[in-house]
Amino acid sequence: MKFTCKVSVVSVDISRTSHASPKPCHSTVGLGHHGPEKKSSSGEVSSQPLYLKICSGKNKQGTRYKATSNVRAMFHRFAMSQGRATVSLHHPKVDIHFSEAQPGELCQFLTILRLPPEKQKRIENLASLSDLTVAKKAVRKFVADSFAEYRTALPKLPETLEQLRAVSIGLVEIDIRIMRLALLRYLDLSKNSLTALPVDMSWPGSLTQLDLSHNKLTSVPPEFCCSTLATSLINLNLSNNAIESLPDMLCTFKALLVLDVSHCKITRLPHILGDLKQLRRLDISHNQLKYLPKSLTMLRMEELSMAGVLFDPVMLSRRNWPPPNTWTVPSLMDLAATAVVCNRIAVVHNQLPWLIHSYLKSALSCECGRPIFLNGLSCLTVHTFKGVAASVQRNQDQYGEPIETGACSQRCFERFRHKLYPLPAL
Ligand SMILES: [Zn+2]
Repeated sequence: MKFTCKVSVVSVDISRTSHASPKPCHSTVGLGHHGPEKKSSSGEVSSQPLYLKICSGKNKQGTRYKATSNVRAMFHRFAMSQGRATVSLHHPKVDIHFSEAQPGELCQFLTILRLPPEKQKRIENLASLSDLTVAKKAVRKFVADSFAEYRTALPKLPETLEQLRAVSIGLVEIDIRIMRLALLRYLDLSKNSLTALPVDMSWPGSLTQLDLSHNKLTSVPPEFCCSTLATSLINLNLSNNAIESLPDMLCTFKALLVLDVSHCKITRLPHILGDLKQLRRLDISHNQLKYLPKSLTMLRMEELSMAGVLFDPVMLSRRNWPPPNTWTVPSLMDLAATAVVCNRIAVVHNQLPWLIHSYLKSALSCECGRPIFLNGLSCLTVHTFKGVAASVQRNQDQYGEPIETGACSQRCFERFRHKLYPLPAL
């Protein structure tokens, strides 16, 4: 087998006396037999030891190390997922540091090294090391300056690509060929003319940053939130689009640290936005929001920008509004869901249909603390958001932001009436 990564070889004696270690250089690493395989008359492969060979730009001939029965130790436990490992040899006494390797290839390599000699002999398809050459440096970044360049390069982009920028080139759709770039971490398609997000697409599983700002997107389909992105994405920029609403499923992006949906046309945020517990920066400014979800008050962030979220002056004047006549007998589903929430019954999400899961999540909470499902009154109250983020950008002349709350019964409505406001018409 062979793979490419950065390699530095440090002599153990030198490493003890000097702090300077050689700079890692781009190399091809091969693991196999030295010379062609010899077969005995019975057809069995003779017991040749395995060798490890490292070729680089500076050392094109490569250096060969015996691998079979020569590995002193391997260190990879916490670093293999980042493509790093160290192999220490007996003869010569060196530490070989591997970095920027593909985790799958590195894992396969270390697995073979770890095998006892008699099992190593049985591995097939190990290439001969005599013809190992230096591989070209992997292309990791591509920036398209024009649509013609993007269209020509896209089919040929290597699977090792980690960053792709195609900004202001007049794209109208996301090409499905981007999805084969399995190592893609950063995708910037901002300042184009994208009108929709693809729904039947398997996004690269390693994508952590996605910038789709300054496009013409009008919606975020729930399928987008159910994709592989749900576990990988940490930075999502959808600002400066024409998005009118965000799906509840957005809350499946559990790894999200930064979410920017500013300068859109959003009228209402997902009720369970506060489920994004990892969130550190949230920008919801300059939308058409008339109130915010209460769950947002549970977050602890570094930055929250919500300039432009205003209390409707007409609504403010409606203090001490007349009691609505909406109290009805609760349904069995409501009673069951209330019991689940009040008794803190553990809910295993992946064992429940999404519909029931989202119904349980849909509860507003009354000022008395009880959950409200369908039976109850949705209304607003005021929250100052002081403790939600270290830096809060908001309208200066406002004493607080409107958040969604509720009253579970007529009794609670009368009790908290002084701080409740009716929901505005959207
Ligand atoms: Zn209540």
